[in-house]
Amino acid sequence: MEATNTDEITIKGRSVGTGVAIGKAVILSSESKTVAPTSIKKSTVKKHKQRFLKAKESLIDELQLMADELNDTGSVEIIDTQKQIILDAEIERSVFEIIEEKQLSVDFAIYQTYCQFIERLKESGSELFRQRIVDLEDIRDRFIDLVCDQKKKKSVKKGALIVAREISPTDLVSYYEDGAIGLVMEKGGVTSHAAIIAKSLGIPCIVSAEKATKEVLNNKTIVLDAAEGTLILNPSRKTISRYRKKVEEAARRKKKRPDSFETADGFPLKITANIEFEPELPRIKEHGAEGIGLLRTESLLFGHKIRKSTEEQLAFYSAILEGSSGPVTIRLFDIGGDKTSRRTVKEANPFLGWRGIRLLLDEKELLQNQLKAIVRTAAKYPGRIRILVPMVSVIHEVNEIKDELESARKELKAEGIELTESIPIGLMVEVPSVALSAYSFAKKVDFLSVGTNDLTQYTMAVDRGNERICNLFQHYHPSVLQLIKMTVEGADKAGVDVSVCGELAGDEIGAACLIGMGIQELSMVPESIPAISELLHSKTKEELEQFASSALELGSTEELEQLFEDWKN
Ligand code: PEP
Ligand code: MG
Repeated sequence: MEATNTDEITIKGRSVGTGVAIGKAVILSSESKTVAPTSIKKSTVKKHKQRFLKAKESLIDELQLMADELNDTGSVEIIDTQKQIILDAEIERSVFEIIEEKQLSVDFAIYQTYCQFIERLKESGSELFRQRIVDLEDIRDRFIDLVCDQKKKKSVKKGALIVAREISPTDLVSYYEDGAIGLVMEKGGVTSHAAIIAKSLGIPCIVSAEKATKEVLNNKTIVLDAAEGTLILNPSRKTISRYRKKVEEAARRKKKRPDSFETADGFPLKITANIEFEPELPRIKEHGAEGIGLLRTESLLFGHKIRKSTEEQLAFYSAILEGSSGPVTIRLFDIGGDKTSRRTVKEANPFLGWRGIRLLLDEKELLQNQLKAIVRTAAKYPGRIRILVPMVSVIHEVNEIKDELESARKELKAEGIELTESIPIGLMVEVPSVALSAYSFAKKVDFLSVGTNDLTQYTMAVDRGNERICNLFQHYHPSVLQLIKMTVEGADKAGVDVSVCGELAGDEIGAACLIGMGIQELSMVPESIPAISELLHSKTKEELEQFASSALELGSTEELEQLFEDWKN
């Protein structure tokens, strides 16, 4: 936290998407519920079980209502996951067991059951699983309120800017419906569920905003700039008017979308979208992306709505292809820890462990199911699909995945299924070893795609989900740029294209450096496209090249930020 003048205070957080919000702060308390065990009479056991079933029904109805209202955003997918949790047979069995066998009240039975599930998630060692804990806590508390008849709907006024330690996706959606315009969270990574939902709803959001709930005063006007990752308390009139201009600017940009992307001197640029959920598809069209540069597929394996089989995946990929135009780069499952295996794998360093391609090559059935679903989709949509392999670190993995793809094709052919000639296969450049030996990797494949989120994590030795050290997560640090430059050189020598699909591509400084370094395609969240395309359109190819070459000479992120400010204006 830093004081910018005697009154104004700036709290730094991590950006989730873009956008500016100016509104009245609403601080949400985050006291966790506790319920003590209460004995019940045997004769009331049935009643307690019925109260559980009734509350379950109400919760499902509530969620259905929400899903109906939000049927064109990524929220639907997450609400669906919550429904699956509520309907889970194991939860019901455990609640009934506590009521019947221990003769304890239904509120405690729910409390204990959910707490046990939460503990299991905490122990899983998986960052993504830990981020789902807030969903379970939220469902638990709403369940308890319902069985105790304390259905108090929390609400906020129109124009509220929510400041919370952490918030559940359902609460966020409900505040959004009330008219909330921004979200600040102390906890949570940029990949937390609430962050995904905020982005999907187009609400400016920052996470990892340390001490925000302590520093912000309720009902006071605050300014949130999601792209900058800043929250300004006690903003002066001048500051408010500066940010108002930004809000107007964003609205103006949204209206005037270019027909194609190019630099000031007409050098064509390829800008594609990163998506994960079907409801995000309309956003791609809205912002004019020329295809999907990164389709994350992990949501197929999340939570309780698992879609592992080839048929289930086929339906998902077909829906994505139907709902978009241009090329679609499907990334193979980038999962880690024990998420898809029945075996419990506890790792001291999950980010350095059994993740991405490392896991897929050990879990052949999972890999083959996905490859077959992709190969079959490619046959239906010829020339549109590319396969992207995550977390590669050695050449051996590249050879193996190519063999696996070949064997999936052979098996399908033997089953009499019509196939296309070949599907381009590419690697994510996320581990420094791949960037440093880019030529050796590039000559084995059809394209490279730089995942700057992980490349930054592994270059700067900074856990991307750890809010304590998030200031060290500097994705345009010159060292990261050097690795990208090496990647471009290696790929050029091998004659293959390089794109960037990490968050750096959707950052102004990053995008300018990347195009200046010779990157052919930038893939980003659709919301980032207007600002990035406008910046790139304001500069010539040569100006971008000069900027990138000066950036590569620098030694720190701060120097680069200064260089950018001087260059941009
Ligand atoms: C990346 O690492 O930059 C990337 C795009 O992949 P993810 O964020 O899904 O790990
Ligand atoms: Mg990655």
